[in-house]
Amino acid sequence: MKWYELKVDEVEERMSSNVKGGLSEKEAKSRLKQYGPNELQEAEKQNAFFLFLEQFKDFMVVVLLAATLISGLLGEYIDAIAIMAIVLINGFLGFFQERKAEKSLQALKELSAPQVIVLRESEWRKVPSKEIVVGDIVKFTSGDRIGADIRIIQSSSLEIEESALTGESLPVVKKENAISGEDVSIGDQENMAFMGTLVTRGSGVGMVVATGMHTAMGQIADLIQSAETMITPLQRRLEQLGKILITVALLLTLLVVVVGVIQGQDLYEMFLAGVSLAVAAIPEGLPAIVTVALSLGVTRMIKQKSIVRKLPAVETLGCASVICSDKTGTLTQNKMSVTNIWSGGKAWTVSGIGYNPEGSFWIKDDTVDVKKEKELQQLLTFGILCNNANIVERNNQYVLDGDPTEGALVVAAMKAGITRRVIADQFEIIKEFPFDSDRKMMSVIVKDKEGKLFAITKGAPDVVANISESILWEGRKTFLSGKYEQLVKDAVYNLASDALRNIAIAFKPLQQYNENISELEIERNLTFIGIQGMIDPPRPEVFDAVKECKEAGIKTVMITGDHLVTAKAIATQLGILPIGGKVLDGKSLTQMTQEELEEVVDDVYVYARVSPQHKLKIVKALQKKGHIVAMTGDGVNDAPAIKASDIGIAMGITGTDVAKEASSLVLLDDNFATIKSAIKEGRNIYENIRKFIRYLLASNVGEILVMLFAMLLALPLPLVPIQILWVNLVTDGLPAMALGLDQPEDDVMKRKPRNPKEGVFARGLWWKVLSRGFLIGLVTLFAFMISYSQNPDNLPYAQTVAFATLVMAQLIHVFDCRSEKSIFHRNPFQNIYLVWAVISSIILMLIVIYFPPLQSIFHTVSIDPKEWLLIMGMASIPTFLLVGALFTKKNKMN
Ligand code: ATP
Repeated sequence: MKWYELKVDEVEERMSSNVKGGLSEKEAKSRLKQYGPNELQEAEKQNAFFLFLEQFKDFMVVVLLAATLISGLLGEYIDAIAIMAIVLINGFLGFFQERKAEKSLQALKELSAPQVIVLRESEWRKVPSKEIVVGDIVKFTSGDRIGADIRIIQSSSLEIEESALTGESLPVVKKENAISGEDVSIGDQENMAFMGTLVTRGSGVGMVVATGMHTAMGQIADLIQSAETMITPLQRRLEQLGKILITVALLLTLLVVVVGVIQGQDLYEMFLAGVSLAVAAIPEGLPAIVTVALSLGVTRMIKQKSIVRKLPAVETLGCASVICSDKTGTLTQNKMSVTNIWSGGKAWTVSGIGYNPEGSFWIKDDTVDVKKEKELQQLLTFGILCNNANIVERNNQYVLDGDPTEGALVVAAMKAGITRRVIADQFEIIKEFPFDSDRKMMSVIVKDKEGKLFAITKGAPDVVANISESILWEGRKTFLSGKYEQLVKDAVYNLASDALRNIAIAFKPLQQYNENISELEIERNLTFIGIQGMIDPPRPEVFDAVKECKEAGIKTVMITGDHLVTAKAIATQLGILPIGGKVLDGKSLTQMTQEELEEVVDDVYVYARVSPQHKLKIVKALQKKGHIVAMTGDGVNDAPAIKASDIGIAMGITGTDVAKEASSLVLLDDNFATIKSAIKEGRNIYENIRKFIRYLLASNVGEILVMLFAMLLALPLPLVPIQILWVNLVTDGLPAMALGLDQPEDDVMKRKPRNPKEGVFARGLWWKVLSRGFLIGLVTLFAFMISYSQNPDNLPYAQTVAFATLVMAQLIHVFDCRSEKSIFHRNPFQNIYLVWAVISSIILMLIVIYFPPLQSIFHTVSIDPKEWLLIMGMASIPTFLLVGALFTKKNKMN
């Protein structure tokens, strides 16, 4: 279908839709049913059965299965069945863990799926992109990714970058006019916007003409692989470490077997023991547990209002040493109200806060009648004319539809009785040059009732003053130079010192209008009318968040398009700018070379009047100084800096699709305090991973050493193979998972950021693993030897005591692992999952020891209750030794 050839009414007719009111929800639903969701087909997911089978491809599991087979062939059916059962349970556990990880990653993807603004039942609504249907009227602006194929109906300075489809990276100017011609190529279809392309400038409205696989994108890409690499550096390092551990475990196992055989142990027994030991000693579950810990952490982060788009960011978060944050909306509330107005030397204040259009205008302590204040009236009227926001009444409340800065101007005008309805009768907007953060201005061309044309520009006061040649002063046009220029500067300075965000308004009459007039022609030689200053209160929680970051060794830097004096005032209020801290503005940044910036970057806390391009320069300078940088952003032009930073953060509410796609973290509430919570969670996730690595590896070392010691001392096997497998499954598995859910230690935000080059085993973790593993092995062996020496004829009895000691020593150790210090630094009942994991392990152990049908499988016997004194005594020795060592160290230091 050549949609580009049709006029708008013809498209409307074919689509049975209408541009004014859009589709009804009922019609949209029925079309959704008929045509299916607006999605591109994805590669097929891995089938659950294959995922289950995957669990058995592991080399060690194959070894275990071979061992089962050999046991079966030798007639040891009970051993064979028990080993088989354990292999299966292991497989199921791995399967569920991977399933869970996959599901939460999928849920994440859906949460960050794009939304589209669509006209339904005559109202603009936000719906997920996959729910839009042909005939829907949609709205898009700079930064949006187009969600379907669209015939453009209205455009305002619209430019779209279509490289995803055409390979051409320069944006194309788009218009609504119909075009004729045979086979117009996609790149030349000026009145069409295609799925997957990017709006780089301006805005537009259009009707959806194709969705999902029927779009141009759907036709060229039958299969879109959107999977990003989700493996984190830590996971990669653990994979490598896994290989080393396998080799070491196999060598040690071989040593145990060889020594055992030399000492005259039964060959078959030693073979089984070797296999079981190897299985137990190899931390094959580690990567899966790490993934689960990461994805559970990510789920917790969603509850705290941040979405991780790229899993590796979770790790990097814990290393962040600088947060570069936007001001408006992130540090402040983005709820603007005009409080001060200045025009031609006169200053008014405005009462009333928020979007409720009730309030009055004052000069000093007296209210004024706006009708008598000509310049004020003109300033307010132009403020609402050069403006796209609306204040609407919904459920007895005034709510803003549009940009808060513009909303504040609308409310101020409404307080003077100047509403959209009133001006609609008097003025017609014929062209708009949208606001962008580089120009810091927006302009419109307006025609009044008498047909007179004029342009209005509103924007940052210093910028507008620069392009104004005159100023309205007491009703007369006067040259904007000398004294008047100084007066404007003073007015801006005074307003900004009160932390106000300021918008200046200027205008000029136009003789004629042609469609191709550029903003450069409009935005010059203007007449300056005045300034409206608005408050944007800081978010109350930010002050504490900045303080907490500081304690955690993280510097907060404000980067804003706002005026230097305003930025300084707010940064001081929020505790970002310390006494003596440096402030830089965009102009100085442009003049500085990259090296010059690097020299001062550590002393700068506020960057003001910057353009998005400056952000990249700042990120690079900080990184050069060795910082790990988190950088926020929302616009199209912020994307390069977001990408270049170590943790790119996009705003969930005000952020564009482009910024979100470039980011690794999205803030659902646009709030700075959420970044702090995410960093805290990032640190905690990493610490939790360290905790269960410490636990699992120490347990494995203990298991190998008890066997090795016994072989070297020519003792019988202290544990039978099936017991080793049981410990590996129950005592190692459950508590390790629970450690992944542990709460952060109190001082997690009092430590310096982690060095990203630091290995997992840094800060003495290797030593902790080896020393504890050694002690666990030793006490298990002692318990075995004591019991065996008392009952030399009853080997299973001594083996059961060794088994119980090993289990208990590990279960006590798990509480040590919760703290980098010692067991007494934390309340053991705080992590309720861990308490339950430990209780279940103990119950399962008691069942294995005392339940007769299981005794024959696990080669256990009921042990005398008195024996538990020995078991518990031995099992708690390692913890007491650790506490004792710490105590002595502390005393020595004192
Ligand atoms: P931040 O980067 O912290 O979000 P910001 O919102 O102040 O700061 P910009 O949006 O780039 O940064 O705005 C820069 C300046 O442009 C503002 O200080 C204001 O004077 C002016 N401005 C903002 N919004 C508009 C608008 N819609 N129309 C005209 N001028 C605007």
